Amino acid sequence: MTVLQLKKPIDYACPDWCENPDHSPGELGDGPLHYGPEFGVVSVQGGAGDLHAMIGVGDDTVFIESPTTLRQHAADMVRAAEWLEANR
Ligand SMILES: [Zn+2]
Repeated sequence: MTVLQLKKPIDYACPDWCENPDHSPGELGDGPLHYGPEFGVVSVQGGAGDLHAMIGVGDDTVFIESPTTLRQHAADMVRAAEWLEANR
């Protein structure tokens, strides 16, 4: 007896939080990567069953002299974490 394993159908529909519904065909691997809101240096994105944050502050090691700037990054990260918790 042959058992066929069917792949779960890919859901191409954007979740409510997706802010860029114009997905290119090139990103359709396991489904589109959806882009949520940006919180300063933090952006949130996700695909099928994977919602995560990306922090873009330039190089891997970032020199931040200003406590104000550092405090703003920290506040952005807290807001992004709260968004992830609310949308998972
Ligand atoms: Zn989308």
